[in-house]
Amino acid sequence: MRRYDVIVVGGGNAALCAALSARELGVSVALLERAPEDERGGNSSFTGGSMRFAYASAEVIHELVPDLSRDEMANTDFGTYTEERFFDDLYRITQCRTDPDLAEVLIKNSQDAIRWMRRRGVRFVPLYGRHAPNVNGRFKFSNGSTLGAAGAGLGLVNALYDIAGRAGVDVYYKAAARTLLYDDEGVHGVRVRINGKTTEMESSGVVLACGGFQANAEWRARYLGAGWELAKVRGTRFNTGDGIRMALEIGAQPYGNWSSAHAVGWDLNAPPYGDRHVGDGFGKHSYNYGIIVNADGRRFLDEGADFRNFTYAKYGKVILAQPGQFAWQVFDSKVLSLLRDTYRIRQVTKARADTLEELAGRLEGVDTRRFLETVSEFNAAVRTDVPFNPSIKDGRGTVGLEIPKSNWAQTIADGPFEAYAVTCGITFTFGGLRVNPGAEVLDMDESPVPGLFAAGELVGGIFYFNYPGGTGLTNGTVFGRIAGQGAARFAARCARS
Ligand SMILES: Cc1cc2nc3c(=O)[nH]c(=O)nc-3n(C[C@H](O)[C@H](O)[C@H](O)COP(=O)(O)OP(=O)(O)OC[C@H]3O[C@@H](n4cnc5c(N)ncnc54)[C@H](O)[C@@H]3O)c2cc1C
Repeated sequence: MRRYDVIVVGGGNAALCAALSARELGVSVALLERAPEDERGGNSSFTGGSMRFAYASAEVIHELVPDLSRDEMANTDFGTYTEERFFDDLYRITQCRTDPDLAEVLIKNSQDAIRWMRRRGVRFVPLYGRHAPNVNGRFKFSNGSTLGAAGAGLGLVNALYDIAGRAGVDVYYKAAARTLLYDDEGVHGVRVRINGKTTEMESSGVVLACGGFQANAEWRARYLGAGWELAKVRGTRFNTGDGIRMALEIGAQPYGNWSSAHAVGWDLNAPPYGDRHVGDGFGKHSYNYGIIVNADGRRFLDEGADFRNFTYAKYGKVILAQPGQFAWQVFDSKVLSLLRDTYRIRQVTKARADTLEELAGRLEGVDTRRFLETVSEFNAAVRTDVPFNPSIKDGRGTVGLEIPKSNWAQTIADGPFEAYAVTCGITFTFGGLRVNPGAEVLDMDESPVPGLFAAGELVGGIFYFNYPGGTGLTNGTVFGRIAGQGAARFAARCARS
């Protein structure tokens, strides 16, 4: 088996950015993707492609999307998303637990990461349908999820594979790394099973970018807690914690929020793992315009606590804790036009009725009488004196309810009504390996493991309890670049010595 300067384990966004960045420094690079070619790309390929980054003016957006039409420029308020706001959001959402050194690297390099991708040939588009409500004929972006990769996750991953192929990265499919080759001097390669045959592949540097452990039901129950084996997996079936395990086996330090994960409301009848044709379509994230009830017919969370981008990733866990692990999102006709396109897909678990009583009868598994009581209590509590405005946190909440709705409260009163059944869909786990700002994997003494770098989902310490939407891909690109460059420089040093 050929020897490489750098081996990158994984085939998603973080791995591809690492491989490309290493190649930019002129070293030889192998990328090992456990999946077959037609399932390549990991969770990254299932994403909506949204990438959060800091920008201080709309000019930056115009530079990154040079093909914006005059009409689009005139009808869109791109606002700004400063580094300070990114810091505020990340710290608030993680209850100030995020590792300050890693957070700083992530945020301060976020715009440069997008610019680099753009230079390498990835195209971006504004996320009109998802994050910019149309207010009086003008689209307004206001919470940092402004651009996404053209063609969403699959578009992103296909573009990166094309670029990597042209750049001379050797890609191996059906190549599952098993263990790290390691001695007192550090890491020297991997033992890998390629097309069913186990072999040793040597290198000077190794980058681990092979995802979290969300697709490993036993680890979910072990680390996230009882019941988590019942969650559906939103993305790839290949992220079973291999990279984390391999590194821990040679003394790497576990880090971050091991008992928590990114998990959302996901169609009740979605398949057990992601479906690449549906992608992110099973996600139902417009709940902030309606109410959510459980099998007892009761509300159990504040649907309008914040923009959906700052609540969706923690509400999957709350749904998993409900009786039967399901809930129904309920909307009346006033807000139906605001529901995201994922509510219109063919594979949807939906009930529709002209009257509330009829709807109640169609909410399978729900206590009908209690549901109708919940709706009338909710309706009586809505502050109708405050105008409804989806582009800001409008303060149109409820008064006097045990579980308030803080913003965007609308009565559930005007038919036709629609309801959507959801369960918990896990996206990725928050616990992982400890790295320093140079993406070097640290051991239990906090010394770098020579030759070992990591990036993406399998790095712990950045996300705790919750997650600001669109940060996973940016995180993979920022640290993937650093890891790829670090591994290439390490290999060059080894070659000289
Ligand atoms: C439905 C969905 C929608 C999402 N939407 C967004 C979004 O819009 N914006 C955003 O920022 N984030 C989003 N995310 C989160 C995002 O996908 C992740 O944060 C990000 O893609 C992680 O990138 P990664 O490269 O670390 O992991 P992945 O992209 O999952 O790549 C891991 C790779 O490792 C491979 N692998 C696993 N084990 C091995 C092994 N032993 N040997 C070799 N290879 C192995 C896998 O096959 C895979 O290719 C979404 C996730 C899902 C599931």
